Amino acid sequence: MLEKLADRIRRAREGVVLTGAGISAESGVPTFRGKEGLWGKFKPEELATMEAFMANPKIVWEWYNWRRELMGKVKPNSGHYALAELGEWFEQYTVVTQNVDGLHRAAGSPRVLELHGNIYRNKCSECNHLTPDDLEIDPTHIPTCTRCGGKIRPDVVWFGELLPEGTIEEAFAVSERADIFFSVGTSALVHPAASLPVIARQHGAVLVEINPEETPLTEFADYSFRARSGELLPELIGLLRRKGGC
Ligand code: NAD
Ligand code: ZN
Repeated sequence: MLEKLADRIRRAREGVVLTGAGISAESGVPTFRGKEGLWGKFKPEELATMEAFMANPKIVWEWYNWRRELMGKVKPNSGHYALAELGEWFEQYTVVTQNVDGLHRAAGSPRVLELHGNIYRNKCSECNHLTPDDLEIDPTHIPTCTRCGGKIRPDVVWFGELLPEGTIEEAFAVSERADIFFSVGTSALVHPAASLPVIARQHGAVLVEINPEETPLTEFADYSFRARSGELLPELIGLLRRKGGC
């Protein structure tokens, strides 16, 4: 199956990859759905919301500082590096990610659309004005916006919020054009990101899924690998390199 996919990749012009928390799991970043994603007794759904921030900004910032520290220690894994390399086989290539950890860029992927923002950036909770990336936040003295006085929050998309408009539009545009669409390490449950592979498939893309578990996408995929991304993707790159053509 991998051989066939490698042949198909060599004939394609545009590739698009959608990634979720699973691609970073092998770097040691917990996914939200696993037990290890919990912080204290809180579920992410109880902390990653505007309501939680308004009710208790201190506890929300404590959670984000814990996640920043956790993510600050990790490095891209072989899956991130393989996805950066995969771009060499396409004229146009985009990595669309739901992750906020910045690991695709760290691995060298040149074109990354971050659908859910970036955990290291801060912005105003009122007017969305961005503040310098490296601003550390003391949860007991949350700084305020220089423009409007609103409380500073992380520049990530919370539950119930819309995705950054230009970014999701671009993600739909590349998905519609894609010859091959890879869905990697995402449960394919959260829309609108989960619509991207469906849109790509409807527009004629070959759909590839890499996930140790089945997802709602599995039955629509042309190639579905029950595997870890950090193992299968390097194997695919190895095959492509052996076959040449790049
Ligand atoms: P998700 O819904 O994308 O689910 C994770 C998926 O990864 C699951 O289907 C699981 O089977 C799969 N998976 C686990 N290990 C894998 C591996 N080694 N290789 C390939 N696939 C693997 O993600 P979620 O954890 O439910 O989080 C939802 C949202 O929360 C994300 O979209 C993101 O915005 C945010 N989040 C981000 C990060 C991060 O930036 N690293 C981490 C956790 C959560
Ligand atoms: Zn503001």
